[in-house]
Amino acid sequence: MKKHNFSAGPCILPQEVFQEASQAILDFNNSGLSILEISHRSKDFVDVMDEARNLALELLGLEGLGYKALFLQGGASTQFLMTAYNLLQTKAGYLNTGTWSDKSIKEAKLFGDIIEVASSKDANYKYIPKGFVLPEGLDYLHLTSNNTIFGTQIKNFPEVDCPLICDMSSDIFSRKLDFSKFDLIYAGAQKNMGPAGTTLVVIREDILGKVTRAIPSMLDYKTHISKGSMFNTPSVYAVYVSMLTMRWLKAKGGIDAIEEINDRKAGLLYSEIELNPLFTGFAAKEDRSSMNATFSLTDGDLKETFDAMWKEAGINGLNGHRSVGGYRASMYNAMSLESVGTLVDVMSELERKA
Ligand SMILES: *Cc1c(COP(=O)(O)O)cnc(C)c1O
Repeated sequence: MKKHNFSAGPCILPQEVFQEASQAILDFNNSGLSILEISHRSKDFVDVMDEARNLALELLGLEGLGYKALFLQGGASTQFLMTAYNLLQTKAGYLNTGTWSDKSIKEAKLFGDIIEVASSKDANYKYIPKGFVLPEGLDYLHLTSNNTIFGTQIKNFPEVDCPLICDMSSDIFSRKLDFSKFDLIYAGAQKNMGPAGTTLVVIREDILGKVTRAIPSMLDYKTHISKGSMFNTPSVYAVYVSMLTMRWLKAKGGIDAIEEINDRKAGLLYSEIELNPLFTGFAAKEDRSSMNATFSLTDGDLKETFDAMWKEAGINGLNGHRSVGGYRASMYNAMSLESVGTLVDVMSELERKA
């Protein structure tokens, strides 16, 4: 039986995508070759890459606005340093909202002065700092839209007069935003858009070329823009499966349609966390993520019973990250409302039993 996969990553993808992707391993486009053995320079694959790049811009509403979409390797973690390498000349601002922000700050410090404009580290990142004042003359401001580990999400993005960079690894394509506010968006595929192995970067070309340092070819966005993400061998299969997932999302009605479902899923789970006296939420209510819900039992003695019950119900990956403890339910785009319903049923069943 297919499990209800609440794991934070890598990825949960639509069943249709798994089916089509598995067929392509055997025979891609009736070519008599597997997607794993065709040349990345073949027309069949160049078409996949073009479609993937176009779909990313189309879904984000960024076509014709001076943006380029790239599919790179090295994960979101490489973007922590690549953003600074390409864009940090003197000083940049970082909002520290969790482990991933913290890691991006550490990398950026290798390239210039980093000003932590605000941080919620003192409260184990259970809220998103607001109302902070930005210093003048920043090369850019870096944000993490969704804090996968702590279950918080930025709901209102600050108005800034410098370039805005955002790590959207765990909520890309999940909700409507004015994406043209951002100058660079990056996302490791393996949370909400595809298998591990590729990272989407959407970048406004005109922010490049302003730093004086020499940049190695592989770490220079300009290299990848000029070669259409084909400077070296791309992660063919990861890009292909990401493309299938974006096709699936477009057919479903795009971000508008998926946001509605995501809001219903999050609403269902959070209302159970609020109403059921056996559970308590971790993240501040106004900052709760619609992708990753963090919560715990009010009575630790029930842990063994609860764990056995959700496992019995076919639920996978509910344990919280070690830095928060408790539970974390990740509800990425491909998770159905029914799966969330299964979890909520187990939680209310525990209340009846206890
Ligand atoms: C998972 C995650 C990362 C790290 O991604 P890798 O691709 O493993 O480097 C970075 N940022 C956020 C918000 C994440 O959720």
